[in-house]
Amino acid sequence: PEFREALHCIRCAACANVCPPYREVGGHVFGHIYSGAIGLVVTPFMHGIEAAAGPQSLCLSCNACEQVCPVDIPLPRQILDVRAMVAAEQGMKRPKAAVLGLYSHARTMNVLLKIGTRSQLPLARGQPMIRNRRLPILKTQTRWRSLPALAKRPLRDRLKSGVAAASLGMIGEAAGLTVALFPGCMTDRIYPEQGEAVATVLAALGVKVVHPEGLHCCGLIPNNSGDVPHAKAMARQTIERLESAPADRIVSGSASCVAMLGQDYVHLFRNDPAWLPRAQAISDRIVDFTSFVARVAHLPPGSLAALDGGQRELTYHDSCQGLNALGLSSEPRILIEGVMGDRLIELEENTLCCGFGGAFSFEYPAVAERLMNRKLKNAEATGTRLIVTDNQGCIMHLRGGLDASGRRIEVRHIAELLADRVREQTRSR
Ligand code: SF4
Ligand code: SF4
Repeated sequence: PEFREALHCIRCAACANVCPPYREVGGHVFGHIYSGAIGLVVTPFMHGIEAAAGPQSLCLSCNACEQVCPVDIPLPRQILDVRAMVAAEQGMKRPKAAVLGLYSHARTMNVLLKIGTRSQLPLARGQPMIRNRRLPILKTQTRWRSLPALAKRPLRDRLKSGVAAASLGMIGEAAGLTVALFPGCMTDRIYPEQGEAVATVLAALGVKVVHPEGLHCCGLIPNNSGDVPHAKAMARQTIERLESAPADRIVSGSASCVAMLGQDYVHLFRNDPAWLPRAQAISDRIVDFTSFVARVAHLPPGSLAALDGGQRELTYHDSCQGLNALGLSSEPRILIEGVMGDRLIELEENTLCCGFGGAFSFEYPAVAERLMNRKLKNAEATGTRLIVTDNQGCIMHLRGGLDASGRRIEVRHIAELLADRVREQTRSR
């Protein structure tokens, strides 16, 4: 019954035409007899789980198919359910299963990541990127994309010293609210400056920011890999941590984490009467950073414009989770063009995935590279030197590709731009 919506399919093929990996590899690879997104869903029922196992792994969960399906079939969710069936029946590849098992242990990972921060020195050589393109184990990944080094100090440690921003007393409607910050594991360990930027902007809005202790990963990585037991374990851990820090709202600067906490948790615990209400309560409170600033705080136009009246030129990359899963489109544009008064030059094919897709870009580097190059070519065509987005996975992927190809284009999180303006105003007072 969970797949019954698939029976509404009218075979229009829109879900295939819009699918980024399908467009790269074609229908013979992306499917069995039935191809495209709907093919991934119906294959296990028509031809068995074995026939579905390979093709379903090519879905990078961009959610584009759901946007175009004229009969509203929840294709990405159903594909993940097929993936979970494959994982349950056939198991996952051993290295992947081992990594996911290890990653689900928050304390063990804390220790391992501390060791990793020190032992990465020979690879990173003090740089923010790992560029070693010769090591056999890294070659398929770093030939076309540099990888980020772990941050010297994770966000969890940096936040203990507090963020350097007092309330600016801006005209906003969020003042007085208490917000729990959910940074996400990539922000915590790789891009802590982005988490600080979110906290800085929230503080400037007069919001009380609390940092729940012991947060690890929301479980998105195992969930997108079909590893339901570990996804549930990590979701429970996250729910407990967030419940321990009462707040009006939970804000995250990661669109992927917001989609996981806001949508996937409820689906994960759909048959669990004990955890479903708790998952629903988290889902009701989670909001992404751009929506919070644009729709909850309602910052007025120009309130974070450059003090010298200058206007930056930039382009915006809509992350798939932001655009397709959360429906964010006007929110970042309100912040860029309205609140900051910058000039936004839109990307061609702005709805097309950049090719990251979490584990996808590690498992299918050739497809991920092609999609990334298409995105970077479109970014170059705008003539700007700055790509802005709201998702750490896209940032890692695009920065890595730009670094490896020697292009001089910056990729920044939208919170960093807003935080820069907050700091500028703080200094001028
Ligand atoms: S979610 Fe994206 S990658 Fe997956 S089938 Fe749909 S369009 Fe293709
Ligand atoms: S877009 Fe929807 S209706 Fe069209 S083929 Fe795909 S699943 Fe079927």
